[in-house]
Amino acid sequence: AVPAAGRGVARAADAPYKDPSLPVATRVADLLSRMSLDDKAGQMTQADRGALTTVSDVAAYRLGSILSGGGSAPSPNTPSSWADMYDNFQRQALSTPLGIPMIYGIDAVHGHNNVVGATIFPHNIGLGATRDPDLVERVGRATAEEVSGTGIDWTFAPCLCVARNDRWGRTYESFSEDPQLVTQMTTIVDGFQKAGNASILATAKHYVGDGGTTGGRDQGNTELSEADLRAIHLAPFKAAVQRGVGSVMVSYSSWNGARMHGNKYLITDVLKGELGFKGFVVTDWAGIDQLDGQTGFTANEITTAINAGVDMVMVPNDYKKFVSLLKQEVQAGRIPTSRIDDANRRILTKKFELGLFEKPLTDRSYTSTVGSAAHRAVAREAVRKSLVLLKNAGDVLPLAKTGGKIFVAGKSADDIGNQSGGWTISWQGSSGNITGGTTILQGIRDLVGSGAQVTYNRDGSGIDSSYRAAIAVVGETPYAEGQGDRTGSMGLDSTDLATLQRLKASGVPLVVVLVSGRPLDIAGQIDQWNALVAAWLPGTEGRGVADMLFGDSAPSGRLPMTWPRSADQEPINDGDGKDALFKYGYGLDYTVPPPHSPSPSPSPSPSPSPSPSPSLSPSPSPSPSVSPSAGGCVVTYRTNDWGGGFTADVTITNRSSSAVNGWRLQWTYAGNQKITGYWNAVVTQSGQQVTASNASYNGTIGANGGTASFGFQGTYSGANATP
Ligand code: BGC
Repeated sequence: AVPAAGRGVARAADAPYKDPSLPVATRVADLLSRMSLDDKAGQMTQADRGALTTVSDVAAYRLGSILSGGGSAPSPNTPSSWADMYDNFQRQALSTPLGIPMIYGIDAVHGHNNVVGATIFPHNIGLGATRDPDLVERVGRATAEEVSGTGIDWTFAPCLCVARNDRWGRTYESFSEDPQLVTQMTTIVDGFQKAGNASILATAKHYVGDGGTTGGRDQGNTELSEADLRAIHLAPFKAAVQRGVGSVMVSYSSWNGARMHGNKYLITDVLKGELGFKGFVVTDWAGIDQLDGQTGFTANEITTAINAGVDMVMVPNDYKKFVSLLKQEVQAGRIPTSRIDDANRRILTKKFELGLFEKPLTDRSYTSTVGSAAHRAVAREAVRKSLVLLKNAGDVLPLAKTGGKIFVAGKSADDIGNQSGGWTISWQGSSGNITGGTTILQGIRDLVGSGAQVTYNRDGSGIDSSYRAAIAVVGETPYAEGQGDRTGSMGLDSTDLATLQRLKASGVPLVVVLVSGRPLDIAGQIDQWNALVAAWLPGTEGRGVADMLFGDSAPSGRLPMTWPRSADQEPINDGDGKDALFKYGYGLDYTVPPPHSPSPSPSPSPSPSPSPSPSLSPSPSPSPSVSPSAGGCVVTYRTNDWGGGFTADVTITNRSSSAVNGWRLQWTYAGNQKITGYWNAVVTQSGQQVTASNASYNGTIGANGGTASFGFQGTYSGANATP
């Protein structure tokens, strides 16, 4: 039943749909007029790669789409074998009479997370904490490049869920409990879809109300008035549609008892009608099977979903049965031909727009970007900015890089899998060093170098009072979807509690780094900790955590979710957060005493001039204007004076009698122009002198207006310091 390669192509060789100079709508209309019911049914069918009995079924059943559900990978799991696999499927699709390319989808939800060696970015909850839509767009673009390098055209991201109950196992897939913040982060859609030749199709999911279910139950029931559903859960979808998101995935959840997969009002009237969505709607994995509450799918469920406005069905297993039932339903008139044509028009439009007809095979020029240094730098920046400093008693942070001994412990200190969470290499993710990257422990070791002695013991034993700080990295181990739902308490496990107990018993100041997909119950322990950092699920670039702990970057993250005192307060995200442990938006900075501020300040209080005094060498071009300011000196550059970054060495001498502790070079930017690049400096400290060598800003910031500044910030400590 497999047509010979090229058969029929001759017939269609001069067809208008093959002509890239014609408008997409013209090409779609021409192609549609040539398609049989077999072709049309196939376009609406998405099969899992693991379910394909044979590769040639792609052609035999005219399959419009294939996916790697839960990230199911080829063997070996390397970028080039993904690309080979993709091309193999695509050649089958191209061998059909009309040669319509298939589109391949995957859950690239925090980087190209199914591919060993790819850059893994923080999960959405961490990106929400950054409050940085430009950064999130760059994360999307980097992801698109890595995905393109393996041939894949389509990611099932972003999840635009607004998580209202932290018990939900997908809380970490949510940018925030706040619809406005989720809306701001839809810039990631542009990152995916406007990446030049590396552009991929994005999916806004899960439509709609997935984060609002009662009890935070995955695939549960969202009980809300229509006004609340719209205000809380629909709002981010509206923004994504305005950005031209190519596809929308339907939610497994129900709205007031009715399954979303059959909701014609919300899918057709609201999404396609009112919001003007022009892309196509895909179901979730076997989503139609749940419509009648029985396992497996029936003709009736297919009809209900497609007539509700579903354009493509993620079957994902029995595609043969699906294609035959779909055709049967159309032939019997239960699904109107106009509906089938509309679905095909939507799918084909996206395929044309993506350039699949012109470039159906993998663009291997992107293959080497998988896990590239440039992408890891973006991820590291995202990690730095995602960290939320929740407690810093006695200004224990930032830690000094030099001198003494540091003790690192905790089950997630040296574990890429725990850092990355679910949806990493496999669907559920797993503990252990499952892919390349830098663990938080390694990041600390790399940063400190030979400046201080770092001892690691996972369970915390061996610590004694000779250490100056203990860092514990504890929290949750990986999970995904409903397997992460938690109904009881949401505290630390007994392993973590025992580790923390050992560290605490030593009397050494204790810094806790929490690696978790959501706020945990810590109210009973936090008093025993000197500092607490919420690191969420940072991904493969653990160095970003070390950067903040040791003052190479400033803590700037803000809570994207309200942090309850206890899980009993759930759904706390839904309320006013009144009795929260930490309110929505909370996050500390390092306390920086301005030279002219009374508290806390070194004695004698330094006057703005001459302390501290910067010297710049070599003087970068253009010449900076130097001004003393809070936290030290600030060297200001006008952005319209420069475009391609700069490099400088900066030395600062604190002329007060007290020592400086943990000073760091600080980058700030004021203005409304986009920053593309990142900031780098090696800061060393000797006595009262702090030097930033090779301080550089790599990249450009906008041409008009705004100023870029760098200067030192840090805390004073020592005999004369005011606590
Ligand atoms: C999830 C989706 C995902 C799909 C494909 C489903 O179980 O709910 O978010 O895109 O699987 O892997």
